[in-house]
This record gives sequence, C-alpha cells and structure tokens, in this order.
Amino acid sequence: MSAFRPGASRIINRALDELKMRRAPGRPTQIHLSVTDRCFLPCLHCDIWKNTDKDLPTHIWTTTLDRMAEWVGPASVNFVGGEPLLRKDLELLMAHAVRLGNEVTFNTNAWLLTERRAASIAETGASVCYISMDGFTAKTVDHSRGRVGSHEKCMEAFDLIDRHASPRVVVTCILNKENAAEIPALLRFVQERGYQLVVQPLYQNFGNNEYDPNWFKSSVLWPTDLGPIDAALDLLIDERRRGGPVCNAVGQLETMRGYFRDPVTFNGLTCKAGHSDISFDPQGNVRLCYFLEPVATVYDMSPLAAVWDAPKTLRRRWEVSRCERSCNLLNCNFDRSDL
Ligand code: SF4
Ligand code: SF4
Repeated sequence: MSAFRPGASRIINRALDELKMRRAPGRPTQIHLSVTDRCFLPCLHCDIWKNTDKDLPTHIWTTTLDRMAEWVGPASVNFVGGEPLLRKDLELLMAHAVRLGNEVTFNTNAWLLTERRAASIAETGASVCYISMDGFTAKTVDHSRGRVGSHEKCMEAFDLIDRHASPRVVVTCILNKENAAEIPALLRFVQERGYQLVVQPLYQNFGNNEYDPNWFKSSVLWPTDLGPIDAALDLLIDERRRGGPVCNAVGQLETMRGYFRDPVTFNGLTCKAGHSDISFDPQGNVRLCYFLEPVATVYDMSPLAAVWDAPKTLRRRWEVSRCERSCNLLNCNFDRSDL
C-alpha cells in the first residue's frame, strides 16, 4: 500500500505512534458484514437475540459491497448476524458479492436451512457455510443453544448442504464446560464428513458491548475442571500439527490453555482487529472492533479508503493495538504472526 521506502515507513510509524495513531499494513482483505441482529435462539453464550433493531435495506449492503470492491478489489466477505438466513435477500447479497470477485462465506445456526434454501445458496457461488454446533450430543448442543431440536437441525443442514457441490461446511464450536469432553467425537464426525472444525473459547456474551471482566464468574458454561478442556486442546493441537481438519493455529489453541485458567489478565498478544479486516454492523456502523466505538457509518459519503486512513480510524487502530482484553484470542482478532 505504502509508496514509502521501508526506512521512511518506520519513521512515519514511530511518529504516528507518538501521536497515538496506527496505520494498517495495507488495505483490508477480510470484510465482515453483520447483516442482521435478529435471531430466534436464546443461546446461553450470546445476547444478540435480545436486540430489536430492524435490518438495513438490501441496497445499503449492495452499495457497500460495490464501494468495497471498487477500493480493495476481490476480498474475503463473511456474512454474519444474528441469523443471516432470516434475511430473505441473503442469497441475493451473497451472489452480488461473488459477482464482484469475492470469496463469500456465511454463518448459520442451521434452523432455517431448508431444501430450497440450500439449493439457492449453492447457486450463489458461496464458498463456505459455517454451521454452529457447540458439541456433539443433542443434550449439549440443545442446552447451549437454548432450544430443543438445535442439534437435529444441524444434522439436517449437513445433509442438505452436502447434496450440492458448494459451499463446503466448516463446523464452528464454542469450547465450554459442557462440550469439552465431546470434542473427540465432534472431530471424528468432522473427519468422516470431510468438513473442517474451528473452535473459539467461550467469551463474554456477543451482543453485549459493555465489557465486564467478571462475566465468566456467572456463566454456567465456564469450566471449573480444566482436565477436559486441556484434553480437548491437546487433541486439537495434535490434529492441527498432523494436517487434520482443524482451522485454528497451534499458537491460538496453546493460548487458550492459559485463557481458561485466567480469562482476565493480559495474554501479551497484540490484537489485530481492524488491521487487515473491516466490519460493518447491522446498524451500518463501520468498525475495527465490535467493542470499541465505530469509525464511520455507511451513510458517510467519504470514500472508504479515506475512512480507513482517517485520523479517527488511526486513533482507534492504535487503541486496538494497545488493548489488553482477551478477545484478541478470538478468530478474527488473533495475530497469527505472533506465535
Ligand atoms: S449465537 Fe448465533 S444463533 Fe445463538 S443467539 Fe447468537 S446469533 Fe443467534
Ligand atoms: S482485544 Fe481487540 S477485539 Fe477485543 S476489545 Fe480489544 S481491540 Fe476489540
């Protein structure tokens, strides 16, 4: 991105650091579009379903995708929510993103994946469907999702997606007290089906942006016995080292061991939110990180390139780089170059 020589660039970065500002190393390559806050599952680890905001209209998102494509060219675009399939235009939006040359992925809790929608999703050209299944047994999955039938819906969704050549499936699992002992069975299932698995440690409920360092003390899913957690992490690390279907970096999994022992003390890693990724929330705010203040809205007519390098954004990115919360460990924020 920079037209400056490396030496000059270092001097500029030092000067910016003194001003409490930080440049990104380049343009964003990952775009997170949170297209709805609506959801119908009362998951124990998430408060997004409590939000009542209405969705933005289709044209706001197509225009945002156009503006991003004009600026950064092809990128990786992830549609998240809430439950993105609640939007009847999700396929239209994903197809639009694919036509712009992006690699498109989306997350789902699986409840709304019908035969018809699996077929229309396949037609969009989306590459990956992330299906959330926090465990292997119905008892565990249904409890954390807050609704009986959640496990069954996941199993149906796997079959429906598998009827089509794309997207491929990645199972996402929030590692917690109740599912740690089920990770071996979940991993075997993922291997048998030819999927991949990505885990994330239990964190303060999503959708609640007021940070509470004591959140875990009242969480029914927070582990007190670390034996099953360590065993699950050992297995995932071994599997990752063997080239198995585990998406997490070894360093990230190793860091989770300490996190489950002490989720509050700074883990020493630099958060990379907003360095190579940019997020748009369901209200149209442009964000580097969901917990810190937004840097713009989609209604600002300044070019997104200008937003990315605006003083307010440089300041926010500096705050991100100094932030000592443990959400630097979550998948979007983890700095793989650190470990
Ligand atoms: S985790 Fe997903 S499915 Fe559960 S409440 Fe949050 S948005 Fe809904
Ligand atoms: S660690 Fe990163 S993602 Fe978490 S609040 Fe800080 S800046 Fe945001």
